[in-house]
Amino acid sequence: MKIQITICGGGNAAHTLVGLLGNQNDVIVKVYAPLGDEADRWQNGIRLNGGITVLTPQGKKLGRPDLVSRNASKAVSGSELVILALPAFAHQAILEEIAPYLISGAWVGALPARGGFDLGARSALGHQVTQVSIFGFQTLPWACRIQQYGSEAIILGTKKQVDIAAWPAAQGPVIADRLQQLLSVRLDPVGSFLSLTLADTGQIIHPGIMYGLFHDWNGKPYPDKRPFYQGVDDTIAEVLQQMSDEVQGLRTVLGKSYPDLDLSAVRSLNDWLLRSYQGTIADSSTLQSRFATNQSYAGLTAPMKPMSGGFVPDFQARYLAEDVPFNLLVTRGIAGLADVPMPMVDRVVTWAQTQLGKEYLVDGKVEGTDLPATRAPQRFAITSLDRLFQEMEYLAADSAVST
Ligand code: NAD
Repeated sequence: MKIQITICGGGNAAHTLVGLLGNQNDVIVKVYAPLGDEADRWQNGIRLNGGITVLTPQGKKLGRPDLVSRNASKAVSGSELVILALPAFAHQAILEEIAPYLISGAWVGALPARGGFDLGARSALGHQVTQVSIFGFQTLPWACRIQQYGSEAIILGTKKQVDIAAWPAAQGPVIADRLQQLLSVRLDPVGSFLSLTLADTGQIIHPGIMYGLFHDWNGKPYPDKRPFYQGVDDTIAEVLQQMSDEVQGLRTVLGKSYPDLDLSAVRSLNDWLLRSYQGTIADSSTLQSRFATNQSYAGLTAPMKPMSGGFVPDFQARYLAEDVPFNLLVTRGIAGLADVPMPMVDRVVTWAQTQLGKEYLVDGKVEGTDLPATRAPQRFAITSLDRLFQEMEYLAADSAVST
């Protein structure tokens, strides 16, 4: 039987998904691309190329969507699977736009989810949320880029496995099975969205290294772009270690308060690096050397913009603009509810919000004028851990998965 899928978005991930899914006989693909003139650019490109070609290490795949539209009703009505392939800051608006057209029983999810996707989705979908299941991937399965808009994308690398969370959690294994078939990527269901939120190491690595590299920047251009991961020295490694320890401290406190909770996927940064990059780390003796000698990180530079005389840091890049409000601050918000101090995280968030021109943390509290553009629980007026667990069904999630 055919499945109808809507891909929301018009960037790298959306192009890749359309090429891979539109290539399959039993799949109807529609694209919801409301931003600017993207729908027209998709249509032009597809007309010329006959669809989206995806260059994979195994060869070319050509997938043709049945429809590309900036109209949510046309693009989403009747779809059983709706995938948000978008930066996290676009999730809420897109979810609100598509909510009226979701059919009962639809699966709605994000690749990647980032932190607190369940909180954001359940708020944005309103009463519709009880009709659907929500899912989120820990990360995008591919490193991918558009080569030619509306025509061609390239997959540079594919992850060996990706964690997936779902609400209701009993749906996790079912959704994982189906998406695994469709995407040919191994998907491992985790206990709950809470696990996915706390386990995201991008929230430590990206803001932590940005802070380490640039917190004492003197404002003058650098002659060259600075190495990002391989720029981790002993001092930056200490920042990352402390941030990781603080997340592990939160995990321990939550585990004591809720003994049935499964947070086994929330790994320390050291463990995560070894698990993710076994074979590409030449010297795994310290956290610093796990970054500096990791071949997978070779040559990757910090987000920097050209300027007369060299390059300056780009503080509006996603390493701060996405990873702070939609990742680190969510974890910090949960720590606030649990009364777990996070002094190094606070130092990094305080520095980052200054660079971003935002206010997320005031006198050690998750509040401030820019809270509405985050997914911290405080933004949804959740003021206690018990309320968070009850509303998000984290404990029900755990028992549902383990039965
Ligand atoms: P992208 O920059 O290509 O996506 C941008 C697209 O998002 C735009 O073209 C538009 O279609 C949509 N969008 C942005 N703002 C919008 C708005 N306000 N309203 C509606 N649509 C809007 O991003 P991507 O590379 O496709 O990545 C998607 C997500 O995956 C991001 O969170 C990214 O950090 C993550 N990710 C990407 C890669 C990769 O290799 N591309 C790897 C890992 C993680």
